[in-house]
Amino acid sequence: MAAGVTGAPEEDGPRLWTGWGRTAPTAARAVRPSSDADVVAAVAAPARAVLARGLGRCYGDAAQSAGGRIVSTSGLSGLVLDEDSGTAVVGAGCSLDRLLRELVPRGWFVPVVPGTRYVTVGGAIAADVHGKNHHVDGSFGQHVRRLDLVDGTAEVRRLSPVDDPDAFWATVGGLGLTGVVTRAELQLRRIGSSWMRVTTARAGGLGELLTALEDHDRRYRYTVAWIDLAAGGRALGRGVLTSGDHADGDEVRAAHGGDPLAYRPGARLTVPPVPVSAVNRLGVRMFNELWFRKAPVYREAELQPMQTFFHPLDGVRDWNRVYGPRGFLQYQFVVPDGREDVLEDVIGGLQRTGAEAFLAVLKRFGDAGPAPLSFPRRGWTLAMDLPVRAPDRLARALDALDAQVADAGGAVYLVKDARCRPDLVERMYPQLPAWRAVRDRLDPQRRFRSDLSRRLDL
Ligand SMILES: Cc1cc2nc3c(=O)[nH]c(=O)nc-3n(C[C@H](O)[C@H](O)[C@H](O)COP(=O)(O)OP(=O)(O)OC[C@H]3O[C@@H](n4cnc5c(N)ncnc54)[C@H](O)[C@@H]3O)c2cc1C
Repeated sequence: MAAGVTGAPEEDGPRLWTGWGRTAPTAARAVRPSSDADVVAAVAAPARAVLARGLGRCYGDAAQSAGGRIVSTSGLSGLVLDEDSGTAVVGAGCSLDRLLRELVPRGWFVPVVPGTRYVTVGGAIAADVHGKNHHVDGSFGQHVRRLDLVDGTAEVRRLSPVDDPDAFWATVGGLGLTGVVTRAELQLRRIGSSWMRVTTARAGGLGELLTALEDHDRRYRYTVAWIDLAAGGRALGRGVLTSGDHADGDEVRAAHGGDPLAYRPGARLTVPPVPVSAVNRLGVRMFNELWFRKAPVYREAELQPMQTFFHPLDGVRDWNRVYGPRGFLQYQFVVPDGREDVLEDVIGGLQRTGAEAFLAVLKRFGDAGPAPLSFPRRGWTLAMDLPVRAPDRLARALDALDAQVADAGGAVYLVKDARCRPDLVERMYPQLPAWRAVRDRLDPQRRFRSDLSRRLDL
């Protein structure tokens, strides 16, 4: 440990930080506060920049700050459940994994969960994360009743959609740039079991997949489609939909016996460090072909444990290592209804550059929430992992796709971004000037900076 900053918790020595994609590492020291007072001291003490960091599951550079002070939130982990109001007051460093382990056996669920449980409540607020139920329930911030924020003047503020709503909504989706969230009160959902009633359906091409997604959105709370980005010709955009709802306690008891709320996400396999990417073009094609064929043409009312339905990747620890030391990018964008042509262009464009897009997911979003920097808005969102093999070629291809997305009135997801051009971000997020005005009030000296905020000039 290095010498502590006066009045602030002791700082670790400098180390390299990256996002989950493991590209573009930069060095910074970290502090690990365990109270609001520690956070206040960490924000107030001199530093080039300050930035909160949760579990680093953003893919790009949103949770790193070269030469700055990282405020790691792992020590801010309290949890108080109020079953009468169906709410929980949770420390910002508490992971959704821990939260679900505490809540599910008591019959409560977090209303919005992203594709991994290994994110913190603070990270979920700062990215305003979405889940498979955006078309019904909106994004994470819409279920936060209030939050505590240490702003850039080191003042502790209690914010809600009623008390200083501008500051509240600028912090939701605000990428850690309005301050450090220390705790939040979440509205929870009642559930009768830890199981999901799932429908699986195959679609042979993009048109069929889009129609099926629209149909499933009307029938199910949760929907998502895996899409085979390697398939061409008439099979372009083929995929497998999985949709579902929470199963009732009685139906789970009848099918499996035992406690319907028992929740035990299994032990995790670990991927060791690999010297080169294990993901190549042939492998991706073969995997996709098998995955598509393995799926039933149509199957209804299958009971699945919720961890299988929501978080299949969480069964493998450090799976990001399969991409080797060069890492990978996650590219996620949204385009409005009526611009389905962009989806087709993106799939075709990536195939022409030879990019092996892996683990691609397509989903429909419902209406946008009130947060000015929030990503979800009505339309189609496509997310994919892209190994970094020929960086210049990939960058050129994605620059062209970004421009097409912006022209269509869409946006890329900033918390996953590692490379977008700043001039496009202003078009993708038209409320950016309004957000900046609130950010300047909360952080007049721009204490909070990340590599992403510098790169995109936020
Ligand atoms: C496998 C996988 C699947 C994913 N699926 C989805 C998905 O389905 N939907 C979705 O929306 N996202 C998804 N994500 C992205 C992920 O949910 C977000 O990046 C989330 O912000 C990560 O939370 P974290 O705690 O790891 O935050 P970090 O990655 O550590 O930080 C992310 C941002 O939040 C800020 N931040 C963190 N804590 C605080 C705090 N206490 N106060 C203020 N700011 C803070 C950081 O400064 C940074 O800007 C996925 C990521 C992975 C790796």
